[in-house]
Amino acid sequence: VERARSSAQPPAHRVDDVVAGIRAAGGRATPARRAIVEVLVGGPHHQHLTAEEVTERVQAVLPDVALSTVYRSMEALEELGFVEHLHIGHGPAVYHLAAEQHLHLVCESCGAVTELPQSTLDAIGEEIRHRHRFRIEPRHFALSGLCEECGE
Ligand SMILES: [Zn+2]
Ligand SMILES: [Zn+2]
Ligand SMILES: [Zn+2]
Repeated sequence: VERARSSAQPPAHRVDDVVAGIRAAGGRATPARRAIVEVLVGGPHHQHLTAEEVTERVQAVLPDVALSTVYRSMEALEELGFVEHLHIGHGPAVYHLAAEQHLHLVCESCGAVTELPQSTLDAIGEEIRHRHRFRIEPRHFALSGLCEECGE
């Protein structure tokens, strides 16, 4: 979904932190789960990857891990609160670390994804909650539109 980023190694301390958190939350830190976290922590920026893309990258390190195992592990990690899925386009959901609490803009024309601070919609979220008695969950879907280059 996202263009390949730098092949730099993920920062080991961030992977260790997440794995320690999984254990502290009562989850098992299996080799497959650790490999998934390594993939999602990614290079200099965090990643947004489909389950199939995560599987391909996990299998580069652990060739015996099946897609179904990755799906189950991602579900478990999501239930434990370490991974979140979101919908960026018409394709399959993508996953990222839940600690990355940001919103996403996606260009309908070129597919470019821009991240926004979570607080960007706080004021409108409050207003919607009061006026419409509805709590928005803006992290679950990207906001679609046109980037500057495509919108001119
Ligand atoms: Zn969803
Ligand atoms: Zn993200
Ligand atoms: Zn664009």
